[in-house]
Amino acid sequence: MKTGTISVQTENIFPIIKQFLYSDQEIFLRELVSNAVDATMKLRTLAARGEVQGEIGDTAIEILLDETAKTLTISDKGIGLTSDECERYLNQVAFSSAQEFLDKYKADGASIIGHFGLGFYSAFMVASRVEAISKSYRPDAQAVVWSCDGSPEYSLDDTTKTTRGTDMVLHLTGEDADEYLKPERITELLNKYCKFLPIEIKFQGETVNNPTPAWKKQATELDDEAYKAFYQELYPYSAEPLFHIHLNIDYPFNLTGILYFPQLKNQLEVQKNKIHLYCNQVFVTDEVKEIVPDFLQLLHGVIDSPDIPLNVSRSALQADRSVKQITNYITKKVAEKLDEMFRKDRENFEAKWENIGAFIKYGMLTDEKFADRAMKFGLLQNTEKAFFTFEEYREKVKATQTDKNENIIFLYTNSPEEHNSYVAAATAKGYDVLLNDNIIDMHFVQFLEGKLEKVQFKRIDADTVDRLVEKDETTESVLSEKEQETVKNIFAEQLKTGTSVELRALAPTDAPVQIVRPEFMRRMKEMQMMQGMDATMFGDMYNVVVNTNHNLVTEKLLKTPADSQADLALYLYDLARLQQNLLKGAELTTFIERSMRFLN
Ligand code: ADP
Repeated sequence: MKTGTISVQTENIFPIIKQFLYSDQEIFLRELVSNAVDATMKLRTLAARGEVQGEIGDTAIEILLDETAKTLTISDKGIGLTSDECERYLNQVAFSSAQEFLDKYKADGASIIGHFGLGFYSAFMVASRVEAISKSYRPDAQAVVWSCDGSPEYSLDDTTKTTRGTDMVLHLTGEDADEYLKPERITELLNKYCKFLPIEIKFQGETVNNPTPAWKKQATELDDEAYKAFYQELYPYSAEPLFHIHLNIDYPFNLTGILYFPQLKNQLEVQKNKIHLYCNQVFVTDEVKEIVPDFLQLLHGVIDSPDIPLNVSRSALQADRSVKQITNYITKKVAEKLDEMFRKDRENFEAKWENIGAFIKYGMLTDEKFADRAMKFGLLQNTEKAFFTFEEYREKVKATQTDKNENIIFLYTNSPEEHNSYVAAATAKGYDVLLNDNIIDMHFVQFLEGKLEKVQFKRIDADTVDRLVEKDETTESVLSEKEQETVKNIFAEQLKTGTSVELRALAPTDAPVQIVRPEFMRRMKEMQMMQGMDATMFGDMYNVVVNTNHNLVTEKLLKTPADSQADLALYLYDLARLQQNLLKGAELTTFIERSMRFLN
């Protein structure tokens, strides 16, 4: 029997680590099972090179829980450790890597992603004593038992183990270690961290992992059903995804994975299923915001890369060069997939637009490179439910909707119901109207104006139909200037102060009074509201347009006795509001009463 002292700078780092990582102590199981996997993989590599004598046999890793003895054992049939190797690797490597981890952790003060890097030493977070009972694969190796309580003192002795490999025995006698004596807890942890480890893992006699998960296979080996089945394996009982993207790259970094596009109808589901980050099939975290661009976090699935540095803080991760490359790669792949879907089966792509449209728009707004790629497959939909690419739409409306300044006006509505009178008027004039009813469209419209040359968006109620697309032609009013002055005053006196009244010589068939919301003012107000500013500050931002060629104005209003003119003006104004579904409750009653008076 040999005893000794491990040389480390801090006398006893164990209490400090334990304190730091208290809430994450469960990672110990991931670390130990990963070590067992590594030892087994090394054995397989040596065997493949003919450096192991005889058959290697079954290599399953077994997790054993002994509730009476209060031990948890991780048992592998890997390369094992000789007594020299125990001293070198467990004493020196494990302790110095723990020391290094702690230094980084202290310096950064932030969470180290997935707490990788602590390794074997993490066993001491839960165990009062750890024994490594091991027999090396080398011929005639003497089995050894190494034992330590986390302090730099350890013991090393010969033992009688006859089979190859290592049993890591954790003595769980401490009070806060009790939870790890419960089989349900161990099952939970194995399911979280070890579900896709590449070597078979057994707990209570049952295999708990899938050593060959779909993302490690070639796309050619998998059909649609296999991708869907894997989605269920990741997120049991979730609605089928819309499509998937298989990631696989070796150079300049190594990354594999499968990303899924979820059905967005059930927003809660979307929140629940997150992208899982793996490192060589070991689960690291499902907090991937430093690696996956904002808009892609809506996706589900797995990313597996040994090239994402895990023992750095999250802020350092964002600045990392390979992480940046990885982020770009993922974005590019997603754009390529969408482009391919669009080109190969446009009908199907359009059918999915309800689900993917907002995502694509959000991506275009937030990611310049994605935006450039998406210019080819981003779509606009009109009120007839037909789809167009941006260029197709420009071509479609160019002839009818180009104004006197050579700007092409894209007309849109966010609510065909509320705007039905405006849409009808525009359609009658031969204009096309887009449907922009998603909250994101407000920003997207602005964005597209910046991208598409000489294109301006105007909401359908931005002006009277004759001026939506400004031409040089002017119509004359049948009223004299004096009469126009009178009409203007009648309205101005009745409407709220600040409401602007504008007289226009429209067609006699156009409505007598119309309410318009100038595009620029309305957008300003919407933006301000989005930023949480007090919207009442900006008033309602509408103008009242009086048609000086409509006979209800030219004949009826001007010939009505002076004491009823105000009443009639308000009636015409309410008629315009009625057309926009703006009359509510008592206002509607007043309107009906006025109608009765004028009909009499
Ligand atoms: P890392 O795995 O990052 O090198 P660890 O602290 O986890 O660091 O482990 C230290 C070393 O101990 C490993 O590099 C390995 O050589 C050895 N080791 C740990 N667990 C086992 C095991 N189950 N079988 C064989 N060697 C092991």
